[in-house]
Parts: sequence; structure tokens; C-alpha cells
Amino acid sequence: MILLRLPTTITDMNSELKNITREILLGFWKVHILHHAAEGPVVGQWMLQELRRHGYELSPGTLYPLLQRMERNGWLRSEVDPQGGPRARKNYYLTLKGQEVLKFIKDRVEELWWEIKDEADK
Ligand SMILES: [Zn+2]
Repeated sequence: MILLRLPTTITDMNSELKNITREILLGFWKVHILHHAAEGPVVGQWMLQELRRHGYELSPGTLYPLLQRMERNGWLRSEVDPQGGPRARKNYYLTLKGQEVLKFIKDRVEELWWEIKDEADK
């Protein structure tokens, strides 16, 4: 079993966290957004709170480009609340393609989970 060598200083830890975020957590957050969009339309502000509830402190500057990329991929579509005036918030809806992506990822996550969970139990 290979052990992760933990960095020794706070600075190292921060840069390691940045690495983990870029490499892995960004993907987790996208799955999270797909999951919640499957339950109903989501808005950025609510999504920030929800991710915080899960222990992730994202800034709007991280979340909004992510939502835009997911929209460009055709996984979400957004609609501005017509009653909302000039500062109206955007609702993000899961598209059919987004549903397919979510289903695909769920199966992959489950398969991966069974493997890594078994490893942890050994
Ligand atoms: Zn959640």
C-alpha cells in the first residue's frame, strides 16, 4: 500500500490542496451540481451554500465559470427569471444530456467506490 506523503508546512499543504482541487474536487463539484439540478432548478447562490454545507468553501469566481462550462457542454441550460429585474438570478436546469451524464457518472462512481471501499476494509 502506498501512503500519501503529507506536506510538512502550511504553504505546502495549501499548494497540495490546490492540486487536489484542480485534479479531483472540481469533478466532484460538477457531479454534485448535476445531482442537485436533477432535483430541480438550482441558482448559484444556493449552490455555494450547499457546497459549503458539504465542507467546500468555493468563491463565486470558482463556481460561476464552472456552471458556464457545464452549460457550454450542454449538461445544463440557464434561464433568467423574467420577473427578477436587472439583477435577476439565473436558474440552471438539467438537460436531457445532463441526465445521461449524471447516470453515467453515478455508475462509474459506484463501481469505483466498491473497489476503493474494499481496499480500505482489507
Ligand atoms: Zn448536496
